[in-house]
Amino acid sequence: MKFYSLNKQAPPVSFKEAVIRGIAPDRGLYFPESFTPLPDSFFETIEELSNHEIAFNAIHQFVSDEIPNEELKKILANTLDFDFPIVEIEENVATLELFHGPTMAFKDVGARFMAQCLGYFSKGEKTDVTVLVATSGDTGGAVANGFLGVEGVKVVILYPNGKVSDIQERQLTTLGQNITALKVDGTFDDCQKMVKTAFLDENILKEMQLTSANSINVARWLPQLFYFLFAYKQAKVQGKEIVFSIPSGNFGNICAGMVAQRLGMPVKHFIAATNVNDTVPQYMLTKEYTPKPSTATISNAMDVGDPSNFIRIRHLYDDNFEELEKNLSSYSFDDKETKAAMLEIFEKNGYIADPHGAVGYLGLKKHQKKQPGSYGIFLETAHPVKFLDVVVETVDKEVEIPPQIQKVMSKEKKSISIKSYDELKSYLLNE
Ligand SMILES: *Cc1c(COP(=O)(O)O)cnc(C)c1O
Repeated sequence: MKFYSLNKQAPPVSFKEAVIRGIAPDRGLYFPESFTPLPDSFFETIEELSNHEIAFNAIHQFVSDEIPNEELKKILANTLDFDFPIVEIEENVATLELFHGPTMAFKDVGARFMAQCLGYFSKGEKTDVTVLVATSGDTGGAVANGFLGVEGVKVVILYPNGKVSDIQERQLTTLGQNITALKVDGTFDDCQKMVKTAFLDENILKEMQLTSANSINVARWLPQLFYFLFAYKQAKVQGKEIVFSIPSGNFGNICAGMVAQRLGMPVKHFIAATNVNDTVPQYMLTKEYTPKPSTATISNAMDVGDPSNFIRIRHLYDDNFEELEKNLSSYSFDDKETKAAMLEIFEKNGYIADPHGAVGYLGLKKHQKKQPGSYGIFLETAHPVKFLDVVVETVDKEVEIPPQIQKVMSKEKKSISIKSYDELKSYLLNE
């Protein structure tokens, strides 16, 4: 399978090259040259398959023979060693819990898969790969955890000082080894800008092999389609057609769900639920894509003003707005509505949602007002404990701290403070 650049000014590359480069030399995102639907029989008998078998069938066409099947199966087994349960919340509303992995956010799936692919590809290479990544919250922890101890790979994580939760910060600053955290005096957008500048900086590129572990990397983006299939498998038994509501920031997760649909999985509709960073809801209203600076919210992992994967979604629909609109609706909610939803879900159903999941819930409920009786699943993208302060203050109930999180609570946070791109550059070049 080849991957081409969406800017069309760079040659197509193999899976391996797409993973190592992260982004094409013309600054375009890589995109698979084709999607071959899985056979009908796959969907007809999906409940007889294990999650590992489902994942292998779904990802194989993208990886092709660049990783031997046995190795790919091992990578999948290591990536998917936790559960993806669907929990019924109320009539016609369920949640897909994606937080049972080591850092308790859905990003564990993409980060672990990518780390192992990169580990496989860098075996026997002379130069180390440096993974440079900006985080608005959960990426940092998932990437740090996924790449910890992977040989031949160094990881540098940029995060905005004071804008990630205490637990998120601990997850990315306490591991050590091949992981370094840089605390940036600025916003997530500033971090992202620095990372993008580094990728264009000839002085850096001639010194090191840089790659990105944000969802622009195909090895982080594509494996996210797995759990849409796992959800389908669970809901199919009940004969229900699914509306998926995905709390969205950079739009990699929802775009992976659309790839699952492209592979033949039946989906009734997609909802992209956002916080006040509403570039995509505005686009769906006005057909104008106008990026803007991000605003800080309680669902901080979605504080993105220019979602990098939205271009992939537009491309999936050949930039045909009418076709996209048939399959996607997008709504935005502010923090007040989000907290009210967290309280409502808790009081009515005894379920504690995190702020991101609550935004997904709101998106689904809004859709169901227009389409009463439809069955929907909103994605619970992180465990509520990761947003302890907001959750405890909103639902007024103590949240039990799971062992994965307890492990990082007592460790010392270590990071290097930087203020400017020049400081990042000198760190990278002198490291
Ligand atoms: C990253 C993240 C999101 C947004 O996912 P995208 O793929 O960037 O749209 C939503 N919720 C949580 C908890 C996240 O960590």
